[in-house]
Formats: sequence, structure tokens, C-alpha cells
Amino acid sequence: MKKILVTGGAGFIGSNFVREMLNLHSDYQIINLDLLTYAGNLANLKTIENNPHYTFIKGDIRNRETVEKIFQVYSIDTVINFAAESHVDRSIIDPDIFLTTNIIGTQVLLDVAKRYWKINPDDKYCGKYQDGVKFLQVSTDEVYGALGKTGMFTETMALLPNSPYSASKASADLIVRAYHETFGMPVNITRCSNNYGAYQFPEKLIPLTINNCLKHKPIPVYGDGMQVRDWLHVKDHCYAIDVVLHRGKVGEIYNIGGNNEKANLDIIRLIIDSLNRSQDLIQFVKDRPGHDRRYAIDNRKITSQLGWKPRYTFEQGIKETIDWYVNNLDWVENIVSGDYAKYYNSMY
Ligand code: NAD
Repeated sequence: MKKILVTGGAGFIGSNFVREMLNLHSDYQIINLDLLTYAGNLANLKTIENNPHYTFIKGDIRNRETVEKIFQVYSIDTVINFAAESHVDRSIIDPDIFLTTNIIGTQVLLDVAKRYWKINPDDKYCGKYQDGVKFLQVSTDEVYGALGKTGMFTETMALLPNSPYSASKASADLIVRAYHETFGMPVNITRCSNNYGAYQFPEKLIPLTINNCLKHKPIPVYGDGMQVRDWLHVKDHCYAIDVVLHRGKVGEIYNIGGNNEKANLDIIRLIIDSLNRSQDLIQFVKDRPGHDRRYAIDNRKITSQLGWKPRYTFEQGIKETIDWYVNNLDWVENIVSGDYAKYYNSMY
């Protein structure tokens, strides 16, 4: 039985990961540590809340005592760190929490893990950690900064993050790397492109567009809308993480992407058409400061070395995603009322 501490498992990607993995692996015991910030939502996990292989703990990755207790009680042997403040716009308004959660939180997890994992006593330094036990840091392609019209991010590129969010994620990546280099901890870092799919918080481009279409509300588009992102279905991201967990070489970084570059405006237009709404809903607004123009992921390392490839085409995935939001209006409604409404009105 693998005893996996999943952090941030009540968020968008984490909750998809927990659900998919419990379906896929009968030998996974998942302990989900999540602070339930505005982005964490236990409704995302309703279908598995009584699964005997799953435990939820409300708590903060920055709290050493909480994390230590979990290691003691559950004999954790694997950590997958999804927990983060994840929205670029919010990092521009209030960077502090991005630094404490994304950087300090990651360091606390590493530090506690370092003390609880079995070490090889023959190692001449502080003991190299045994193979098979991993700390997997879920990172983002945004750490590489922005691309021009051509080129792709490779794992060896310099980190040139442009937003407080991406800078905090890049810092966390470097701390993870340092724990590997200094203490021999068996780590992997994955850097994925933009995810889409069910249960994504409606502040993000795709669910925001779907939700506004359904309500006939204007759809805010930053600048000219021609910012290009690579898009990957969240389930494909989850499977890629699982593949790295099993087959990833210790210490390595793996880019994850769908070879699926799209401009934001094109995605918005596609969703409007799919929902039979008017393109007049589009409302261009002032661009986000420091808005990266283009991201593109070179995924050849994970595809050729670990045998992962995306299963969803974008056409299939976006249709399924739109249908999910249309069929889960209650889920959206519970989120967009209250605090989120205040945030939304302050932004657009
Ligand atoms: P999300 O905002 O939907 O979820 C984040 C989760 O972390 C929430 O459940 C929140 O409650 C929890 N959390 C926040 N602070 C915490 C703390 N101090 N302690 C414990 N839990 C805490 O984010 P997401 O989109 O699911 O992203 C998950 C991870 O994947 C992040 O690390 C993000 O950087 C990375 N990532 C996201 C994307 C994307 O497109 N969404 C792409 C690549 C990488």
C-alpha cells in the first residue's frame, strides 16, 4: 500500500487527481491535506468521501506540527504537492500569501519529509534517501517566463518567471531541487501547461467563459486576447503525474503539455459558439500587467522516456468540459455567490 500525502487535494487538479487515482489503484491510501481556502471545495470530492482508501484533513502545509503529525500517524511514504495559491491575478493584488504558501509551505513539507523517510545509513553525507519514495512537486510552465512567436519550453531552460505567482512557483522548484542535491531526497518536479476540465474554479478562463455565456454576461478579455497557451485536459495531467511517480527518474524535471496551442480569444469564441451565444458578449478590458504573450511546452522528454501521451483531443475535452458545467450549475452557483462575487466585481 502506498501512503500518499496529497496536498491541495480539494482544489481543481488535486481533486481530479484523488478521484482518478482511487479508481485506478487499489493499493493507494490517499491522505488529503487541504486548508480549504476560497479555491478548496469538498464538494469536488463528494463521490469518494466514504472511500476507505481516502482520508481528508483540514490543515495548512505551512504548519509544521500538522504536517509532522500526519507523517507520524499515517507513515507517509510519498508526497504530491498540489497545494498552492494558483491565480495570477490574485498574486498581482496580494503577493504575500503566494510567497508563504507556495514557497514556505513547500519547504515545510520537504523538511518534515526529510526527517521521516528512511535513509541509507551507509551514505557518507546525511544519508541518501531510499529509492521508491518520492516528493513530487506539481509545478507549472509559467516558471519559464514568456516565449516569442516561436520556440518551446524545455526542461533545461532558465527560469524567468514574470508574475508573483510564477516567481513563487519557480522558487519552490529551486527549493525542491536543493533538497535533492543537498540531502539526496528522491524528488521529481513536473511543469504542466494550462489545465482545463471539470471542477475548475470559475475565476479561470474556461469556466469563467462558460459561466458568463450561460448567464448572458459580458466576457472580459485581457488586451487583444491573443495570448497563447498550451491546453491540456486535467485528467491527462493527473495520469502524467502518476506516470512520473512510477517511472520518473529521481531528481528529474518533466514538462507536461498537450501540443495544443490556442489563443485565449479563440477559446472564448469557440465556447460562445458551442453554447449558441452572441460574440457580442466579448468585452475587451485593460491587459493584465506583465501578461506573458505565449507559452508552449516541449513534452518530448516525458513522452519518449516515460511513455506518457495525452488521451484527450482538445475538441473532445472541451466539449466534455462545457457539458459538465452545463450539468453542474449548482456546483458553480455555490462558488460564484458570496466572496467570489465581490472579487469578480472588483476585477472587471
Ligand atoms: P487550485 O487553486 O484549484 O487549488 C489549490 C488548492 O490548494 C486548494 O484546494 C486550496 O484550498 C489548497 N491550499 C491553498 N493553500 C494551502 C495551504 N497553505 N495548505 C493546504 N492547502 C492549501 O489550484 P489548481 O489549479 O488545482 O493547481 C494545483 C497545482 O497545480 C498548483 O500547485 C498549481 O501551481 C499547479 N498547476 C496548475 C495549473 C492549472 O492550469 N491550473 C497548471 C500547471 C500547474
